[in-house]
Parts: sequence; structure tokens; C-alpha cells
Amino acid sequence: MYHPKIELFISQDEFDVYKMASEFAEKEIHPLASSIDKNEKIPKEVFNKLKEVGFMGVTTPEQYGGSGLNNVSLFLIQVAINRACAATGVTMSVHNSLVQGPINKFGSQFQKDKYLKILATGDEIGAYCLSEPTSGSDAGSLKTAAEKKNGVYILNGSKNFITNGNYADIFIIFARTIPDQSLGPKGISAFIVEKSYKGLSVGKNEKKLGIKGSSTTQIFLDSCEVPSENLLGVENEGFKIAMNTLDGGRIGIAAQAIGIALACLDESVKYSLQRTQFGKPIADHQAIKWKVADMATEIEAAFLMGIRAAKLKDMGVAHTKEASMAKLFASSIVNKHCTEAVQIHGGAGYLKDFSVERYFRDAKITEIYEGTSEVQHLVIARSILNIK
Ligand SMILES: Cc1cc2nc3c(=O)[nH]c(=O)nc-3n(C[C@H](O)[C@H](O)[C@H](O)COP(=O)(O)OP(=O)(O)OC[C@H]3O[C@@H](n4cnc5c(N)ncnc54)[C@H](O)[C@@H]3O)c2cc1C
Repeated sequence: MYHPKIELFISQDEFDVYKMASEFAEKEIHPLASSIDKNEKIPKEVFNKLKEVGFMGVTTPEQYGGSGLNNVSLFLIQVAINRACAATGVTMSVHNSLVQGPINKFGSQFQKDKYLKILATGDEIGAYCLSEPTSGSDAGSLKTAAEKKNGVYILNGSKNFITNGNYADIFIIFARTIPDQSLGPKGISAFIVEKSYKGLSVGKNEKKLGIKGSSTTQIFLDSCEVPSENLLGVENEGFKIAMNTLDGGRIGIAAQAIGIALACLDESVKYSLQRTQFGKPIADHQAIKWKVADMATEIEAAFLMGIRAAKLKDMGVAHTKEASMAKLFASSIVNKHCTEAVQIHGGAGYLKDFSVERYFRDAKITEIYEGTSEVQHLVIARSILNIK
């Protein structure tokens, strides 16, 4: 396995976590990745294994049952898990970054006591519901309504493409508390909604190109009653929570892209050393050498960008631009690397018998969710040019 030289840029504790996560992922998750893809389902045993090693509540404080690690450690764990199985990686990433992240940061004491404890132990799974059928990149134009009546909020609307839809018990849902659509992002609030609440229903699993083991569904809200104590953060300030949360989530998607890219490199090195054409291993042909060299170089750059963004988050420093840059770069290179990995495998790379076929399908999503690459360009440009 290829190991980027990162140890000088992280602490010994972080490196130990990465080593442990890499060994765990290789031994416990990697052997199941192909069947997870084929069956389009993550088996219970995988969730149980992630629970046992504390990966279902990586940054949640120990007092709530989490592992109490920092964001650099979360990034490194996510690289390791995604190197083994990207479907498992995103399932874990949403549960950690997009669900426990905002409850940790914006939740009331009641919410932390009630929800973090069951989420961090992995006893219940979380989902993050921002996108809707008519609002994706333009998330601030969402239409789901939350009307306050007799001390409860009544939610009506639908959410699209929700990761963990069919695994989740707890949903963070963004809805409009001021009905005036022209207000855009202003007038949106965040709620913690339990699956058991009357009026919430989950759609069927979408059929996808890749990350097939992850669950992606619609969520329907039909006069769903949410207690007022489940308002997350301040009323009408929910869009800030949504965007702040995505800063962390994007570091996770960068980690996913790096994990898949490392897996592409591992398979490309292995295959190119064993496959012989024209009397020598194909690794000995210059065209293949260059591909491998470019892959490793770009992975190392992406890795350092991801560590930087995670470190800034740990330091409490603004990291919106750096998280976007890390995701933009890593998702771009992994799509290039998957194409090269299939190419290095020749016809074999086109067959399901070889993992690079799955990596090729899994990689594409990293350029789409948690903000498309076009949206990352907008975020980065906005911070450089200082214009909206
Ligand atoms: C497998 C999967 C899992 C997902 N999981 C979740 C989840 O858990 N929670 C959640 O809330 N959402 C989730 N999403 C939704 C995802 O975040 C959106 O698909 C994504 O933000 C893009 O939105 P859209 O699909 O509506 O595309 P659109 O916004 O309609 O964009 C279509 C195209 O137009 C481009 N575009 C749009 N606006 C601009 C602009 N201003 N400038 C330049 N180009 C632009 C886009 O980049 C894209 O290429 C998931 C999606 C998928 C496919």
C-alpha cells in the first residue's frame, strides 16, 4: 500500500489513529466492499465494527459517548475507511460531520444529552436534509415549511437525495420558518426530527451509479409535528448552520476522494508490476510510470490540503475556502486517477472482477454532493474577490 509522507505534519497521536484506522479498514471493511456494492447495502456487522472502534462518534466529546478526537483525526479516519469502501465512508461521514457536528456546535444541553449520546455510540444513525426537488445548489431557495402552532412546529415539504435515508433514525431538517420565499436563505431554521414522529416518511432507495451501499432517499414531511425544543440553534438562523456544517462535511468528501485515489494507486501499482506486455511488466513502460508518478504526486498534495483544512477547523479558524479547495482539488484528481487506473488495467479494468471498475463509479459523486465543483469554485472565488 502506498503511504504518503504525512507524519511530519500531524501529531504522533493523530498518526497512531491513522495507522489504527488503516489497519482496521484493510482487515475489516475492505474484504466486504465488493459485496456491499453488489448488494447495495451495508450489513449490520459493518456498523457494529465501526461502533466498536468508536468511529460512529469521532469528534463528539467522551461525556456524550463519543471518541473525543479532533478533526484532523476524523479526516485521517475517513481517508482510511474510504480507501477500503466509499459507500461505508460516506455513511459514516454524514453521521459524524453533518449530524453530530451541528448538534455538538449549536445544540442545547437537552439536545446534546438526548441525541448525541445515541448517535455517538452508533446506536442510532443520522441524516442531513437540506436538498429538495427544486433546490440543490441554490439551497437557500428551499420550500419546506415550518409553521409554529400551539408550541410545536408543523413541517410540510419534501427532501431529495438524502444520504442514510433508510439507515437513519434522527434527521436534521432545514425548513422555512418565514414563509416569504423572496427572503432566500434568511428565514430558514434547523430542526432535529425523529423518524418516529408522525408525518415523516422515507422514500425508496435511489438506484445509483456508485457508492451503492449507501442509502439515498427522499424524505416526506406531511404535517410532521416537531416539539419546539427540537429547534436547533436560533430560529431563522438555520441556513448559517447548514453552511457552517458543510465546511466540515467538505473536508470529509475530500477525505473520501483521497481514499478512493489511494485505492486506485494501490491497484494500479499491483497490476502494472504483474502484467507483462512486450516482454516486460507494463510498469516498465514509460507511459505507465508517468501515470503512477502523477497519481502519487497529486494524492500527496490533496492529502496536505485536507490536513490543512481540518487543522484550521481544530484551531477554530475560518476554513470555508480551504475546505472548498480541498474538496475541489481532491474530487478532481480522483476522477482523473480512476480513469487512469482503469486504463492501466486495460480490458480487465472494465470488468467487475477488478476493484478499479467500482472506484471509477464511486468517484464521480465527490464532484457533486456537498456542493458541486462549480459551487466550490463560487465559494473560493467569493472569498478571493470579496464579492457575492
Ligand atoms: C448520492 C447523493 C447523495 C446526496 N446526499 C445528500 C444529503 O445527504 N443531504 C442533502 O441535503 N443533499 C444530498 N445530496 C444532494 C446534493 O448535495 C445535490 O445533488 C448537489 O448539491 C447539486 O444539486 P442538484 O442535484 O439539485 O443540481 P443543480 O443545483 O440543479 O445543478 C445542476 C448543474 O448546474 C450547476 N450549477 C448550479 N448553479 C450554478 C451556478 N450558480 N453556477 C455554475 N453552475 C451552477 C451545478 O454545478 C450542476 O453542474 C446528495 C446527492 C446525491 C446524488
